[in-house]
Order: sequence, then structure tokens, then C-alpha cells
Amino acid sequence: MGKLSIRDLPEEAYRGKRVFVRVDFNVPIKGGVIQDDTRIRASLPTIEYLGGRGARLILASHLGRPKGKKIPELSLEPVAHHLSKLTGKEVKFAPDCTNAAPEIVSRLQDGEIVLLENLRFNPGEEANDPSFARSLASLADIYVNDAFGTAHRAHASTYGMAKFFDLRLAGLLMAREIEFLTKVRDNPDKPFVVILGGAKVKDKIGVISNLVARADVFLIGGGMSYTFLKAEGREIGNSLFDEKHFEQVKDLLSSYGEKIKLPVDHIAVKEVVAGAQKRHFEGDIEKGWIGVDIGEKTIKLYKSFLKGEGMIFWNGPLGVFEIDDFAHGTMEIARAVKEACENGAKVVIGGGDTVSAIHKAGIKDEELTHVSTGGGATLEFLAGVELPGIKVLTDRNG
Ligand code: ADP
Ligand code: MG
Repeated sequence: MGKLSIRDLPEEAYRGKRVFVRVDFNVPIKGGVIQDDTRIRASLPTIEYLGGRGARLILASHLGRPKGKKIPELSLEPVAHHLSKLTGKEVKFAPDCTNAAPEIVSRLQDGEIVLLENLRFNPGEEANDPSFARSLASLADIYVNDAFGTAHRAHASTYGMAKFFDLRLAGLLMAREIEFLTKVRDNPDKPFVVILGGAKVKDKIGVISNLVARADVFLIGGGMSYTFLKAEGREIGNSLFDEKHFEQVKDLLSSYGEKIKLPVDHIAVKEVVAGAQKRHFEGDIEKGWIGVDIGEKTIKLYKSFLKGEGMIFWNGPLGVFEIDDFAHGTMEIARAVKEACENGAKVVIGGGDTVSAIHKAGIKDEELTHVSTGGGATLEFLAGVELPGIKVLTDRNG
């Protein structure tokens, strides 16, 4: 079915219209200086597309977790200045979303931009409060959501306000996320290889269950793999273990065990710190030792599935990659995935830490098919959950 995107409307549809765009400007800021503007730049195509067609743009985002209070360090004002530089035109700033905003919006000319203050300074945002949603909606004629990373949250700006609009459109970034992740979820090219790592079993169970019918193989690593290994009767020493989801993991293995590959060797330490003495274990891990990376045999085994064909989805590093000593397995898989992409496989990755791992391996986003901007949202989407922020957008043939 699909959702209507800003590209689906005639060019003239936006001229003179007040267009509310929910963006994800949740960027790291220290002492008023933006440390990484990737997320701001990611929404530029949408901003320029609409601005270039005469829309009067009202941009809104959250930043951090102010929990309904005004916290000066979490102000979006520095982002307004930065956006002025990136777009080459003055971006106005509304110091709050309800009182100051209407007056500033009423003075916007075609193509002009205002950025609202941090949505989460208002308790109504995360509570999806109807009156806050209504006051946000009263600012605009058309609703656009370009913030995929928060689409799994039913907040006032991602969910509640949408019902006040006839036109609820996906921005270009959102549309791209929906397109690629729908492909991964419903119609992956074959063979379809899923690499899952990271620490939390809970986040990944739904992904395995929902993708298993179309996936050829799951390559499991990282902290989550030890709960799976223990379910197979392996000794895991003091490695990460998730008691709470142990039964579910056992069920997954008994139903789909032949598709789920687990590490066959490990790098382990007694303490997870840089410089710790490392030991290689094949099979079982001895008491007192903590698995922190996949071993060479596992790297070789996993690489044998990463060829230049079909589709690869990857979420979750395969070891404690933040510490260089334990990053080897993750770096090797990152390079193998990039090579597979060069040779014709479609490679989609998602998750904040996985994206950092890719960058740490010296790989650029453009060298892969799609780098999802979501963490939780990406995993929920692939687990088959209908995300509230996507659900409320206008259906293409609706
Ligand atoms: P993403 O952010 O890409 O979704 P996750 O947050 O699920 O990834 O997982 C990343 C975290 O998993 C990292 O902090 C990493 O250190 C941790 N991790 C990976 N392997 C292990 C391990 N063997 N033991 C403990 N933590 C691990
Ligand atoms: Mg993470």
C-alpha cells in the first residue's frame, strides 16, 4: 500500500502553505556547539524540496530527555543557527511551541523557515496530550513527518497532531526508510542473510520471529549470542546471559535452529577493560571468563555467507567493539559486508552502535545500500510492528 510522500503531490501544492515538518534534530551538543550534524543534514533534502516550492516551513524536533521541563542546555537554538548556515538562509527560532510560535508563523513568507524550541520542554509532547497536539496542529496546513527514528513513539508531534490534517505526508528521509525496510521485511532479495549482535536479546527476538520465514540464515554474535549458546547446552562462563528471555530463546532454537548460526569460538577476558589478557576458547567458555568478541573460526564461517548476491541486513556489533582490543570480529564483518555490497549484494544496516562500528571500520554510508537512521524504530518495524508515526500518515491509495 505505502504512504503518501511529499513527492506525490503536485509541485504547486505547497506554495503559500504552512507545512509542519517533524524532523529528528536530536544531535549531540556541547557548550552550544553541535558535535555531529549528520541528522540535521539528513533532513536537508526534505527542507529544500518544500522550501523550494514555496512552503512556509515550521520545523519541530525533540532534543535529549528534558522530561517536560525547560533545560537551557537542551535548547534547539544552536540548531537554528547551524541550519541557517547549511541552508544559506535565515532560520527563525520560536523560543516555545505554544505561545511564541503562532505570531512568528503568521509572519512567515513563502520559502521561509522557523524552528520551534525543543518539543519535549512541554510535558504534553511525550504524554501525547490532546490540547498540546491541537495547538501544534493549529500552526500549519499540511503535516509532514521526516523523523523515522521516533516513529515508534506515539507522541503529540509524531502521532496526536496528525489527525487534525487532511494531508499527512512522509518526508523524503522517512519515505526512503519505509521503502528499504519494507523491502527487507516483506520481499528481500535471496539469499537473505541477517546478522544480529549487540547486548539485548529482548530487542531482537521479534526480528528473528518475523523475518525467519524469508531469511536463509541468521548469523548471531555479540552479547546476545551467549543466551543462545547456553540454550544449546554450552558453557558460557561469566558472559552476558538473559535469564528472562531464556525460554523464548530455547523456543526459537527448537523451531528454527537450522537457520540460526552461533559463534563456534570466542575471545574472552576476565575483566572487560582495554588491555585485559585475552584467551581464545573453542566451544565452551571456562568459568570466570567473559566473551567479548567472536573468534577467527566464527569470522571465517560468517564471512562464507556474505557473498555478492541477495540481501544482507545487519543490526548489532559482534563484540564489545568500543574497546579496540575487542573490535576485531566486528571490523572484519563490517569489511566483509562492504565487500559483499561492492560485489552486488544489497546491504541494509541499522542501529546507533552498528552505524558507529561501520564508521570505525572506515566505511561511508554511501558505500552501503541503506543505512537506517533508526534504532528501536528499525527493529520494531522489522519485527512487524505497525509504528504509530507511520500508521497516521496518509495511505497512498486511501
Ligand atoms: P545497535 O545500537 O546497533 O542497535 P545494540 O545497542 O543492540 O546495537 O548493541 C551494542 C552494544 O552491545 C555495544 O555497547 C556493545 O559493547 C555491546 N556488546 C557487543 N558484544 C558484547 C559482548 N560480548 N558482551 C557485552 N556487550 C556486548
Ligand atoms: Mg545501541
